[in-house]
Amino acid sequence: MRIDLHTHSTASDGTLTPSEVVRAAVAAGLDVLALTDHDSADGWEEAATAARDARLTLIRGMEISSKLDGAGVHLLAYLPDPTLPALAAELTRILDGRSSRLPAMIAQLRRAGLDLTAEEVKAGAVDAAALGRPHVADVLVAKGIVADRAAAFREWLGWGRPGYVARYAPSTYTMIELVVAAGGAPVIAHPWGRGSRRVLDGPTLASLAEIGLVGVEVDHQDHEPGERETLRQMAAELGLVVTGSSDFHGEGKVDHELGCNTTAPDQLERLLTAAAQNASRSGRAVPEVVRP
Ligand code: AMP
Ligand code: FE
Ligand code: FE
Ligand code: ZN
Repeated sequence: MRIDLHTHSTASDGTLTPSEVVRAAVAAGLDVLALTDHDSADGWEEAATAARDARLTLIRGMEISSKLDGAGVHLLAYLPDPTLPALAAELTRILDGRSSRLPAMIAQLRRAGLDLTAEEVKAGAVDAAALGRPHVADVLVAKGIVADRAAAFREWLGWGRPGYVARYAPSTYTMIELVVAAGGAPVIAHPWGRGSRRVLDGPTLASLAEIGLVGVEVDHQDHEPGERETLRQMAAELGLVVTGSSDFHGEGKVDHELGCNTTAPDQLERLLTAAAQNASRSGRAVPEVVRP
């Protein structure tokens, strides 16, 4: 049983459409896939249709931007009802905040001497729920200014670089509460990846667990083997589910191939049980898991 619980499509910043991600998952020998586009459920229905055809188990999810002590923290939400008004309002605010900073980013990059326009960014990302840095990066790659997205972030788009513009994200505490209220199961994505290590220590994870955090993504390419073992130990002490995933973005992220990290079946069962409990408490009409 091969389970990958964190992937992106063209509904956010992946380079494959939702149905292409599903077919690639089958080709990669996966049995269970979660589609977790940034701050959006737009890819869910296309992926569900493709998963039924391909006889793949599909879990509808998303990866939500949040902020803790000034650091960005990504929260994976499995099976939330995205129409819960308070959650829908926050997702809209995040997506609007991402798209609305595009003109400022373009202006700063142009001032730094690069030749690109917002129209070029839009043209390359017609299915995306919001236009973000990865889409700007793709234009820089297409123009031969940088070799890949990673280089674009390193040289132009990351914090402190000429194109950097901050954007809105709600507090991680607020977002965990909203996901729980929407009947979903919240899991911290790559807790010790870029930036967020500083703010996600043991006591903080404990306080997040207290308000409803269900799990942590331990097996992720951003984590070294030693970090994974420490995190696994902390998760065990806090009773948190441990997940492992690729964070696949198609061509958008190298060394993140489907199934490069996986989640153990017993951990997925715990995750789905937690989601079912939150769903029955919330009374929301939560999305079903697509099963073959
Ligand atoms: P934005 O949402 O516009 O702030 O852009 C952040 C997104 O860019 C993240 O969610 C990642 O998926 C992607 N990203 C961040 N850093 C990198 C990187 N070094 N290489 C490729 N993609 C990245
Ligand atoms: Fe991304
Ligand atoms: Fe992330
Ligand atoms: Zn991701």
